[in-house]
Amino acid sequence: MFQLDSLISDFPILDQTIQGRRLVYLDNAATTQKPMAVLLASRHYYEAVNSNIHRGTHYLARLATEAFEKARQTVAGHLNAATPDEVIFTSGTTDGINLVANVLALSGRIRPGDEILISTLEHHSNIVPWQMLCERTGGVLKIIPCHEDGSLDQEAFLALLNERTRILSLTWISNSFGTVNPIAEMTAAAKNAGALVLIDAAQATAHMHINVQALGIDFLALSGHKVYAPTGIGVLWGRADVLNSLPPWRGGGEMIKEVTFEKTSYNELPFKFEAGTPNIEGAIALAAALDFLNGTGLSAIQKHERELIRSAADALSSIPGIRFYGPDDRAGALSFNVEGVHQYDLGTLMDQMGVAVRTGHHCCQPLMARFGITGTVRASFAVYNTDKDVEALAEAVGRSVAMLR
Ligand code: PMP
Repeated sequence: MFQLDSLISDFPILDQTIQGRRLVYLDNAATTQKPMAVLLASRHYYEAVNSNIHRGTHYLARLATEAFEKARQTVAGHLNAATPDEVIFTSGTTDGINLVANVLALSGRIRPGDEILISTLEHHSNIVPWQMLCERTGGVLKIIPCHEDGSLDQEAFLALLNERTRILSLTWISNSFGTVNPIAEMTAAAKNAGALVLIDAAQATAHMHINVQALGIDFLALSGHKVYAPTGIGVLWGRADVLNSLPPWRGGGEMIKEVTFEKTSYNELPFKFEAGTPNIEGAIALAAALDFLNGTGLSAIQKHERELIRSAADALSSIPGIRFYGPDDRAGALSFNVEGVHQYDLGTLMDQMGVAVRTGHHCCQPLMARFGITGTVRASFAVYNTDKDVEALAEAVGRSVAMLR
């Protein structure tokens, strides 16, 4: 088990007061704070390495290229990808999902009446790109419903699968409710029906061991900033044979082999999908963040966060009129509303007490509509949160509710 005190001191941003109180940061599902190792990796890159990659003949260009490609190897190792060529650097999960939706549309594989399967739990970035694809191709969006406890209706899922299902695109962990979907079982069923499978791992990356080969999926999208790395960097992992069978999306430098005005031939993986100068520093910092995650130990992190989330739910359950969303074995996020109190007012008062939570629809408007609400208060946890943070959360909710009622 890691030493929590020394780990916290590794996150300089946490060492500050907000509104005269110690910062209690419980908005980790929106974005995580960054440890020194990541900050130093970014700084070192710009202080000592900065150069454009792949085509330079000079020393710094070689150094930057090596560091960038080493970062790709680190990501591939973390995901257990068959080869680093399957790792495409993107700007984040949204970018990765858009990439897949666009190349599928371009590929001609989606015919009118073909079905795209997503779930009620999805973030807008795993809804809208598919709606856009359907508009272009005549595809039809199908939605897996969820139960009252925020878990997906597996019977309905199986009933929705059929020979027209082209892709199942599913979040691993719900950013709103913390629901952990049984993605291995659902992938097996979708593959049986002949569909491709994309997993949105935006939330899962900081909380779960990822093994893309064992999962048997085709694509996985993640965002660096949700896993202790900077914003503006993400990964789309894709199975090499699937990626090779798809056309490129964005055109430009890097993604080409040869360009004439008559005809352009495209580069190999992964460059075929990486047009233009990538976020070199971001990729290097992402690798540092994954090293931090593995150095700290994901199993220990999971245990720590699970205990925090459980004790937060226990501490808050004594507040009259509180309703939690999502199943009991949630990961990352704890979402709730208190009867007679608007979530926004609650969050605003909590902020005055130094407790940072998120309120609103969490980019999941259809999920909120399913539950007949406009939003929730969401406390979301990371490795550096403590029992004291949970106490501060419970105290802030209790005091705010008393003031608002
Ligand atoms: N999917 C889920 C489940 C998310 O939580 C988020 C971010 N809140 C996204 C997708 C989009 O991630 P990004 O904004 O980093 O592209």
